[in-house]
Amino acid sequence: MSSKASSASVSIKACGHTGGNCLVAELDFDEGEVVLEETPLLEMLDTEVLAFRHSSHYAAVWSFAQECVGQEKIAMLLSLGLSEGAASSCKAEDLKRALEAEVPCSQNDDALRFLVILMSNSFRFKGVNGKTTALFEIMSRANHSCDPNVRMIGDGWPGQLIAVRPIQAQEEILLCYGGWDTEFLKEPSTARQKYLSEHWGFQCKCVRCEREASIRTS
Ligand SMILES: [Zn+2]
Repeated sequence: MSSKASSASVSIKACGHTGGNCLVAELDFDEGEVVLEETPLLEMLDTEVLAFRHSSHYAAVWSFAQECVGQEKIAMLLSLGLSEGAASSCKAEDLKRALEAEVPCSQNDDALRFLVILMSNSFRFKGVNGKTTALFEIMSRANHSCDPNVRMIGDGWPGQLIAVRPIQAQEEILLCYGGWDTEFLKEPSTARQKYLSEHWGFQCKCVRCEREASIRTS
């Protein structure tokens, strides 16, 4: 697999259509080329998180963060300007209830923001020592499309974004949040919208969704 991935291969830009950030290609890429290679900024090994026994997984993740990530790094992660879009998802309601029940009130605001940032930006990743939840400074900012131009390789080290079709410089880098090797992309628009709203808290307005909506209404 060829690669010209480097820190100059993509850039983070303000994104008009989401109000947040987006990733933009700085070079042309052919299908199959590595667009970005990146080591995670934060990795949480599943087995270590599960060792914190709480009735909710969210509280276990927060306890892990307190013990193993540390206040300084948590503060740094909260200051990166990563999306908090999942705050409006159905999962965020479960999260708020779990934190109220199991996390001291004084930590509640930071715990909520930290976990919402993880929900909004993290990938399932095969780390060096086993399965992890991983947060990346750059690739975590790729927005979703139901017609993506990259897929994430999460079973190697470091993580990679691979072009699934030719990409031109200045095109936005778009990932599918429903996964690449899943049924998501074969689902009808209504099922995709339901999944994205429940898990990620947004209504998809990608080119494919808009095209399918215009066919339905014409
Ligand atoms: Zn869409």
